[in-house]
Amino acid sequence: MSRRMLVVGAHSADFVWRAGGAIAATTANGGVARVVALSYGERGESGELWKEPGQTLERVKEIRHGEAERAAAALDADLVALDLGDYPLEIDREALMRIADVIREFEPDVLLTHTDKDPFNPDHAEAFFAVERARSRSSRRRSSSCSSRTSPSSATSRRPRSWTSRP
Ligand SMILES: [Zn+2]
Repeated sequence: MSRRMLVVGAHSADFVWRAGGAIAATTANGGVARVVALSYGERGESGELWKEPGQTLERVKEIRHGEAERAAAALDADLVALDLGDYPLEIDREALMRIADVIREFEPDVLLTHTDKDPFNPDHAEAFFAVERARSRSSRRRSSSCSSRTSPSSATSRRPRSWTSRP
């Protein structure tokens, strides 16, 4: 059972149905879980909100933030929202550093994210590759600054585990 689970989703609601059970099992058994939303899914996964007359991008993000925060709280997890934009989700160098910082700071023993292929939603695969790069960056930087705390086996355990991606 994971003690420290980090879940990285491309969009702010992805974790709910893709990893909600795993998060709940972790926190119910005394573990700690953190959810990272790379974006709010404000363009591609907020269709209902855009039906409101006069809707704005900022308001959609605000609503999505509140929803994700409440969902994370219900699972006893905390939420880190990076607001990187969606459709397309694009991970530049600065964004990569921010993701790496979260991984390094949280020190997960399990890291969950999307699979590397999703024919219906390219943002999900983009999140996978970002997490893969950020994870190796965070463990490299850690091993140079705190080499005594990192063993090859613990570095291996930080490889992201993917959840099954569906449209
Ligand atoms: Zn998504």
